Amino acid sequence: MVKFSRYAHTFELGDAVALYHSLRMKPVYLNMKSYEGLQAWLASPLCVSIEDAPENIKNEVNELAKYKILTKSDDEDDKVLAFVKNKIPKPMINVCYVILSEQCNLACKYCFLGNNNEEKRSQFQLENLTVETADKAIEFFIRQIKLSGLDNYEDNKPVIIFYGGEPLVNYDVLVYIAKKINAMRDTEPCMKYTELSMVTNGLLLTDERILELKELGVGIGISVDGFNEKANKNRVDLAGNIVYNRILKTLDRCKELGSDVSLSVTLSEETIKNKNDILNLVDNYGIHSFGFNIMMSSESFVLPESYNVAAAQFILDEFVELRMRGIYEDRIMRKLKAFSKAQVYFSDCAATAGGQIVIAPSGQVGICHACLHDKKYFVANIWDDNFDATKDENYIEWSQLTPVNKEECQDCSALGICGGGCPINAMSLKEGNNIHSLDERFCIHSKMTLEFLIKDLYRIIKEG
Ligand code: SF4
Ligand code: SF4
Repeated sequence: MVKFSRYAHTFELGDAVALYHSLRMKPVYLNMKSYEGLQAWLASPLCVSIEDAPENIKNEVNELAKYKILTKSDDEDDKVLAFVKNKIPKPMINVCYVILSEQCNLACKYCFLGNNNEEKRSQFQLENLTVETADKAIEFFIRQIKLSGLDNYEDNKPVIIFYGGEPLVNYDVLVYIAKKINAMRDTEPCMKYTELSMVTNGLLLTDERILELKELGVGIGISVDGFNEKANKNRVDLAGNIVYNRILKTLDRCKELGSDVSLSVTLSEETIKNKNDILNLVDNYGIHSFGFNIMMSSESFVLPESYNVAAAQFILDEFVELRMRGIYEDRIMRKLKAFSKAQVYFSDCAATAGGQIVIAPSGQVGICHACLHDKKYFVANIWDDNFDATKDENYIEWSQLTPVNKEECQDCSALGICGGGCPINAMSLKEGNNIHSLDERFCIHSKMTLEFLIKDLYRIIKEG
């Protein structure tokens, strides 16, 4: 008998219904009459095969069968799942977080690295990354790229992200690495297309540094939480002073000097109260590249239940506004790309893709920078010439964290576009959780995004 796939989901759209297979990811839109006709046929004893469909819904039924929304057996669903699982990538390194210093000049109240927490902060190493360690780190990164077998470097551009703590507290080593990579572009094929960027709070950027970074091709990503002091009240220095005005000065200098910065906006509870603020920020500083960060809860920073829905809605509302300005926010774009190509999106960060190494100033090598304070999942060091991330059991475990492998995700409509949340956040949500647990904060964002994409596509189709 013909029936709905166990991966089929319906979305009411007022005058129509969208039917959607969470792993084939092609919505089929039916008007109400066809949908009712379909339901009547499926409830009758006549739905033995797809070919038996009544004439008035034949095309629709064929379409639904094509995208596996209608099946004849569980076997078909199992085959789709097996096909998708077969495509889960193995660890392949092409992202390197270089922690120039574990020290930070700020102590943001929501800092997921733990700068807001005395105990975690005391665990951060005082010594910064040295030039000698940087040399070995680059060698190590190149070796991991080569072991990963990603040889089309133009399509799989390696990425080096200068990170901290605050990377600018060790500016000289940052410049040293950037110059070294740039000098290697002609001699080391896998470094030719390497992208260099830095995530900074911006306070230590001077005019000279802004210009030098531009010349070196190091992208500047500045963290800011909105366009007013209240939204930035969690961004404080070690003495507890709000640093918002100092960030604005940096943005002013970057604009004046023609440096194209991207913004990393952490969505504080205040930020999401006002949609226009972000748009004004973007307009004022001519920002083209943009990413929102949903805040994580921790023992010292607890968020109300209502935050996750409000933050997810805010991201969608801003996406709609920003795309009218030709700006596409990263977080939604990643899901939109998966949706429009109907290609399952396995992981939403390079750590869960098994794609990144994090190099601490000590030379220890980890999977995720959020574990910098306790070095959990720091599984190697740069002097270990035999280390191969593609064969390391921790890297393999992380690369398999995708929702596609999770029992509790199988019934979820967002399965194909989700990529899963942050395992580090999932660990801290409830006692007894581990990296395999659900990051429920992220589920809300994924499910609301899918609903938005399905409705948005319907709107586009209707408007022709
Ligand atoms: S595991 Fe979490 S903190 Fe680590 S890179 Fe992924 S999203 Fe970021
Ligand atoms: S992580 Fe959450 S949103 Fe993502 S597939 Fe699983 S249940 Fe769905």
